[in-house]
Amino acid sequence: MTVLKDKIKARIASEGPISVAQYMTICLSDPDAGYYTTREPFGQAGDFITAPEVSQMFGELIGATLLSAYEAIGSPEQFELVELGPGRGTLMSDLLRMAALRPAFLNAAHLNLVEMSPRLRKNQQVTLKKSPLKPEFRDTFQDVPEGPVLLVANEFFDALPIHQFVKTPDGWLERQIGLDDCDELTFGVGAARLPEGAIATSCVTSPLGTIIETQPAANAIAQDIGRRLAQCGGAAVFFDYGYLKTAAGDTLQALYKHAFDDVLANPGEADLTAHVNFEALASAAVKGGAKALPAMTQGSFLLQAGLLERAGSLGAGKSHQEQEAIRDAVERLAAPEQMGELFKVLAVTGTGTSFQPFDTPH
Ligand code: SAH
Repeated sequence: MTVLKDKIKARIASEGPISVAQYMTICLSDPDAGYYTTREPFGQAGDFITAPEVSQMFGELIGATLLSAYEAIGSPEQFELVELGPGRGTLMSDLLRMAALRPAFLNAAHLNLVEMSPRLRKNQQVTLKKSPLKPEFRDTFQDVPEGPVLLVANEFFDALPIHQFVKTPDGWLERQIGLDDCDELTFGVGAARLPEGAIATSCVTSPLGTIIETQPAANAIAQDIGRRLAQCGGAAVFFDYGYLKTAAGDTLQALYKHAFDDVLANPGEADLTAHVNFEALASAAVKGGAKALPAMTQGSFLLQAGLLERAGSLGAGKSHQEQEAIRDAVERLAAPEQMGELFKVLAVTGTGTSFQPFDTPH
């Protein structure tokens, strides 16, 4: 029994069932016992390993991508370099090492880290101690100062609360978490209905019991970013696991010590995420005024950004064992059965100008 489970049960007992979105918010960001507030999720000892923690090549290739974006937006003299949810700060540290190849980029950049967890802010500060830019911490993207923006986010949107709706004889009703007869957490449905327009045509004929997810929190941030890019110029690149077209399905999942866990079993102790709907994310950015470049898989992105060449130069002159580790990292990041297919990449820009390795919008 987790501390947070008691707290959630007490709240449901006094105020009634909570939505999946409320449950996710409490589990991940409760100020006393939330997952990101209290846990060290990353790495071997944690619950999962993210791409920047697999290899320095990931952050470096994103660095090269942002250098290309910087030129594409006209090499502004000042801009806001932003990362949403930087975790341990590894991606930014690798990105800045690559970006240092172009002094104009570093001279123009102000570094903003959007991070809600005070504990992770400290980790990020330590990781970036020797980096050429001093980070400013922001609570939300809206706190990033005016001006052109170059932004990256890896596995950020999947941690934002989603809503789920279940198809019932009375229509699509919101999935909730309540208490069963034995006082245990259990799923049920409430009275709230699926918002108009959130349903894909492919879901109209879905059988009863089908689940559809919406991600208003993620979409609101994407729309804000889109607005900023349209007004002040810039580009943003989002990496996450998810799907390219709106579809039905329950993607809410808990990870506990590298294994899937029952979503309701260990609130605050297991990581809780949902797959990101990239079609909805792109639409939200476009609604804000930005242009979306065609989304692609992480595997295609990395190969087109030069993963194999980077692996070759990184391995040159190294021991057999080190070269083997680099080969493993390439597989892990880009192979279709590993992170290559499940993870998707979306780039959005203020003007629609493309940059390496993204295609121009058709
Ligand atoms: N990008 C990192 C970490 C991914 S985990 C990596 O790839 O390793 C998600 C990160 O987002 C954590 O740093 C978490 O604290 C942060 N985060 C989650 N929800 C947030 C929110 N609403 N606002 C700001 N940061 C958030």
